[in-house]
Amino acid sequence: MQTDPQRYTVTAALPYANGPVHIGHLAGVYLPADIYVRYLRLMNRDVKFICGSDEHGVPITIRAQKEGVTPQQVVDKYHTIIKDSFQEFGVSFDIYSRTSSETHREVASDFFLKLYNEGKFIEQTSEQYYDEQADQFLADRYIVGTCPNCGNENAYGDQCERCGTSLSPTELINPRSMLSGNKPVLRETKHWYLPLDQYEPWLREWIIEGHKNDWKTNVYGQCKSWIDQGLHPRAVTRDLDWGVPVPVPGAEGKVLYVWFDAPIGYISATKELLPDTWQTYWQDPGTKLVHFIGKDNIVFHCIIFPVMLKAHGNYILPANVPANEFLNLEGDKISTSRNWAVWLHEYLQDFPGKADVLRYVLCANAPETKDNDFTWKDFQARNNNELVANLGNFVNRALVLTHKFFGGQVPAATDLTAEDQEVLHQLHAFPARIGELIENYRFRDALNELMNLTRLGNKYLADTEPWKLIKTDEVRTGTVLHIALQLAASLVTLLEPFLPASAARLATMLQIEAGAWQQAGRPDALLTGHQLAPAALLFDKIDDATVEAQVQKLLDTKKANELAAAVAAPAKEDISFEQFQTMDLRIGTIVAAEKVAKTKKLLKLSVDLGFDEPRTIVSGIAEHFVPEALVGQQVQVLLNLAPREIKGIQSQGMLLMAENADGVLSLMQPSSAVLPGSSVA
Ligand SMILES: [Zn+2]
Repeated sequence: MQTDPQRYTVTAALPYANGPVHIGHLAGVYLPADIYVRYLRLMNRDVKFICGSDEHGVPITIRAQKEGVTPQQVVDKYHTIIKDSFQEFGVSFDIYSRTSSETHREVASDFFLKLYNEGKFIEQTSEQYYDEQADQFLADRYIVGTCPNCGNENAYGDQCERCGTSLSPTELINPRSMLSGNKPVLRETKHWYLPLDQYEPWLREWIIEGHKNDWKTNVYGQCKSWIDQGLHPRAVTRDLDWGVPVPVPGAEGKVLYVWFDAPIGYISATKELLPDTWQTYWQDPGTKLVHFIGKDNIVFHCIIFPVMLKAHGNYILPANVPANEFLNLEGDKISTSRNWAVWLHEYLQDFPGKADVLRYVLCANAPETKDNDFTWKDFQARNNNELVANLGNFVNRALVLTHKFFGGQVPAATDLTAEDQEVLHQLHAFPARIGELIENYRFRDALNELMNLTRLGNKYLADTEPWKLIKTDEVRTGTVLHIALQLAASLVTLLEPFLPASAARLATMLQIEAGAWQQAGRPDALLTGHQLAPAALLFDKIDDATVEAQVQKLLDTKKANELAAAVAAPAKEDISFEQFQTMDLRIGTIVAAEKVAKTKKLLKLSVDLGFDEPRTIVSGIAEHFVPEALVGQQVQVLLNLAPREIKGIQSQGMLLMAENADGVLSLMQPSSAVLPGSSVA
């Protein structure tokens, strides 16, 4: 039997401070964490909600170098954007700190030192690339060279982005430093490693045996697969000048590896929030620790950080790590580098006062068990059909009719019918049911249950028709509205975790405050005669033009990406002049053109190249040119491409075309007409 925890520490993954946050982060991590915490607070539980910016690591130093600013300037900029947008979105952190803080440096250093002094690390010397001109060791991302797999000349030291192969820097052919452009040299360097392999038996017992039934299957499955593959020592330090310095002699120029220092950020943020009592939230077994993260972070929060906590010895371990899958955008993977994202700070600008609409859509569509897709059409439909037509409509009808018929005072309930009692009976069951779903991290189902309550309210009003009933039975009308208003009053509390701004506006209209969660289903939240404030719409419709503008913004991004990709298409390998001269390039004049039957793309062309007979060339350009319009045009031809049979036609050469980033083709023509067969050289 598990007893209720005395308190909760809830963390949300530290966002990386080299860019703003987008809807994928929100749906996967911050929104579910916030719903969970807001619910716990309404349950009167002692809970601390901890987060902050992750501000160390190589991507930040690279961005700083690209933009010609300092790493501190990069993280200052994004820390502010992220913090402000979270606040406006209603994420109710108790503290949003940052890993560049002085407290964090101390906490992370102390953590490292304790493990170091107790011999929990292993020391290992290895050879790493060093830039002699820049006088520093090079992180993998600071080394580029030729991919041994595909020949891409700009592969990184950890990965080739063209063919996707994982690399180590020493595998690169012709490596060069991104700092100086010089060839780096191998030098010996010493680092400290956390021997994860030594903790494997313990991890098996703790996760594979211990959390089989209470961790989400996607999380448990990933952990099991990591452990089954076998764990290896992992370096906790690296050669870099941006981060928490390694606090031992002989470690000049080394910092804690960002994966080691970042999770300690949860602890240091808690210490900043509660300088005297922070230990209670991290070291007292009565505390339940829950990490909200995305699936890309599972190994860090389920295996590596727990091993760190276990090795330290003073800390509790996470009770649960309810990681989510990924949210896609309009059918494509969200990508920060390609700007394929809906950025939170931009959404808040484009949709002022509509944070709750995004909260609703992201929760209703959260990638809890599998990857999910966000589309603007779905965003609009959920707003118009669910928030406006269901939730908003119910609340508005109950309030407006009470103002119209009873001067805005809660009318008396008299002689309850079986139907009335059934509605109140159902209302009573909602808080526990929604609460149980939230406690089991099933936020989508919880939100759907909440919407079932407003469906119940709408059905009750549709069945009883108080707007007609008033003509024949004022007392009965009063009873119906009394009950409808009790449902609305319970929504003030039940909505709060999901849509806090709307819950607050509803509270103002009803002139009450959100109460304890368990009290939400009661039938007497509003007393007879209680005066209501004027009704206002909680939500309004979002029109086609608004969502089309957002879709257009994404299409523009896609186009810009394609243009950038075209410009950035890597150069091919050098060839010799002799190799070039093997190509017989000529100008010809098209004398006839027709579509190749039963194909979409192919045209059969007759091209006058100065020989007795025109040559036949089959070309895949039918989607770009009308055959008749080509006749008489001059074109560039590769004459000596070996003849090929295409759709039964012998093609004797190849038309050369220029291709735009969006795939549009144009002919390569001389600036003034030349004789057919003129050579190109
Ligand atoms: Zn490659």
